[in-house]
Amino acid sequence: MKVPMLDLSEQYASLKTEVLEALDGVMSNSVFILGSNVKKLEADIAEYSHVAHGIGCGNGSDAIHIALQAAGVGPGDEVITTPFTFFATGGAIVRAGATPVYADIDPVSFNIDPAEIEKHITVKTKAIIPVHLYGQMADMVSIRKIADKHNLIVIEDAAQAIGARQGDFTVGELGDAATYSFFPTKNLGAYGDGGMIVTNNEDIAEKCRVIRVHGSKPKYYHSVLGYNSRLDELQAAVLNVKFPHLEDWSKLRRTHADFYTQLLNEKVGNYVKTPVKVEGFHHVFHQYTILTERRDELQAYLKENGVETMIYYPLPLHIQPVFESLGYKNGDYPKAEKAANEALSLPMFPELKEEQQKYVVEKIAEFFSGK
Ligand SMILES: *Cc1c(COP(=O)(O)O)cnc(C)c1O
Repeated sequence: MKVPMLDLSEQYASLKTEVLEALDGVMSNSVFILGSNVKKLEADIAEYSHVAHGIGCGNGSDAIHIALQAAGVGPGDEVITTPFTFFATGGAIVRAGATPVYADIDPVSFNIDPAEIEKHITVKTKAIIPVHLYGQMADMVSIRKIADKHNLIVIEDAAQAIGARQGDFTVGELGDAATYSFFPTKNLGAYGDGGMIVTNNEDIAEKCRVIRVHGSKPKYYHSVLGYNSRLDELQAAVLNVKFPHLEDWSKLRRTHADFYTQLLNEKVGNYVKTPVKVEGFHHVFHQYTILTERRDELQAYLKENGVETMIYYPLPLHIQPVFESLGYKNGDYPKAEKAANEALSLPMFPELKEEQQKYVVEKIAEFFSGK
């Protein structure tokens, strides 16, 4: 049996007629940039996030960068974030001219630990970027309290967590802004790049709208330095077809996660640590990530047996070569480093079959039993 990490073809087959109609609609209208499809998606995603504004942009990385700039973060500022994330989080901070400062993770949730954040606050700290890793929100209630106490901005990197909640709070509701990615592999994926900023803050929203069109307002008059970073109409049209299915897809991901956990507990036991759904949090399982000290060997064994897995992420940000000049070294963030050495993400997508999950776990059990 072959089990891919992700297979988007079955989803496309189920939506094909609607998607092709939506694309044809855009091309027939011939409005390709910032038209009615983007407007509709912005309104729907903002509402879904319980906030007033959605601002579509080119991708999830630009979304973070634009939100930072709109919130007034720039040179001389420090931004506290997690070292255990995709590169884009750190890249956006540096591109905004600010300095990333890392706070270690809570090893249970893999997310930034609020207690660690407090230790790193200085007079230069301007913002916090929690990343809701693997589809589970960071502890935003605590982070909001810390931010209010120290007068800091919070930008949530929610690229992996559209639809996640903490209690009744959605992604975007407690941050000054939150950013989504519509990269094809994300829970709400386009057929190319795309991203969005959501915010309840009118001033940040307006600045984001200006920054994504070269800082132009009115047209051809530029008072701030912006970029060309828009969500295009074709991608928005695809996303408008997909968005009504998002809750069902998240539910399937959660069901698959529970099934993996049940099977792993039964058949593999203590050899691996299964992901924890933190109490009071609604996890949308962008990834299902286990921990094992024999991670690399297990990954190789699964590959030999047709099971694709991924390592998100093998090298924490503080020891990425490109950020070497910031002066961090191995050992500075032991919990993030341990996760980077032990995390293995198993195949996860809504259309994943029980048979495939059984096969994956059977092969993991076989590996540890030494057969
Ligand atoms: C995917 C991702 C991004 C970047 O999104 P793009 O749309 O690929 O630019 C940022 N942060 C995290 C945590 C991500 O997973």
